[in-house]
Amino acid sequence: MKVTLLSGGTGTPKLLQGFMQLLPQEEIAVVVNTAEDTWLPHGYLSPDIDTVLYTLAGLVNEETWYGLRGDTFATHEQLRRLGFDEFMNIGDLDRATHIMRGELLRQGLTLEQVTRRLCEAFGIKASVLPMTNQELRSVIVTSQGEMDLHEFLIKHRAEPDVLGVRFEGRAEACEASVAAIKEADFVVIGPSNPVTSIMPILSMKEIRASLERRRESVVAVSPIVGNMPVSGPADKFLRAFGVEPTPRGVACLYRDVAAHMVVDESEAELHADGVEVHRTGILMRTPGDKRRLAEFLIKLMKHRH
Ligand code: GDP
Repeated sequence: MKVTLLSGGTGTPKLLQGFMQLLPQEEIAVVVNTAEDTWLPHGYLSPDIDTVLYTLAGLVNEETWYGLRGDTFATHEQLRRLGFDEFMNIGDLDRATHIMRGELLRQGLTLEQVTRRLCEAFGIKASVLPMTNQELRSVIVTSQGEMDLHEFLIKHRAEPDVLGVRFEGRAEACEASVAAIKEADFVVIGPSNPVTSIMPILSMKEIRASLERRRESVVAVSPIVGNMPVSGPADKFLRAFGVEPTPRGVACLYRDVAAHMVVDESEAELHADGVEVHRTGILMRTPGDKRRLAEFLIKLMKHRH
């Protein structure tokens, strides 16, 4: 069985850990958001790809959902002592990934090729695919000016009002991502931030068109339980996007690309036109929770392709 997940860097990687308990990695592909990628002085940061890589390698820091478990911060601390304000907390081992990626990109490899090299280096057998090999950036329009997501989340602690989100740049889908969507038995839009993680992926024309063509075998998992995201500020972004921050709002946002939506068992009866709504526990706290949700999705979607 082949499954392809669309992923950001927190909610979907948890679900990925569920699928990893049930399927060989060779049967899993992950199409990853790259709208938060950025050049840093030491290399190229691709935060969601890094989290997906570290998750598949069994190394991710599950307290923060970025970086490697048990990493040290000697370089970060020394930079601060030297008077260089590195506002992101980048670990020593994590930094090595960025250095390698930056160097290979400078040598002319595509992000997809670099990611494949990193997969080999980490012994990862799943396909990890950037949504695009080109540049597309999220710009967060806030009450305190425009900023990127890192600045919004870290420097400004997600406090400013969000007035809008725009994607800057012209990018085409990475062909391998489109192929992974076409070839999978079913596709999962993971419980990631709909605006900052999933919308950039869906803004790739070829990806959206491929999903639209097979929407009966596409299922989305809600990142919202009740009226609240499980973590992070997805509600602020949804409101700024003109979408109600509820499972129903998310189901409507994905209606053209996903015929199925999985919401939490605690939700009252809900109806979203043209979308089949399914209920189960979608909070993933333990390895067992993750496995159960992945199992539910496999059973639900097995015969729908
Ligand atoms: P980011 O790239 O770090 O912003 O991470 P994502 O976009 O992948 O994930 C953020 C979203 O994950 C938030 O909107 C959370 O509500 C959602 N999330 C986190 N943990 C869980 C969980 O256990 N279950 C569900 N359903 N959603 C979750």
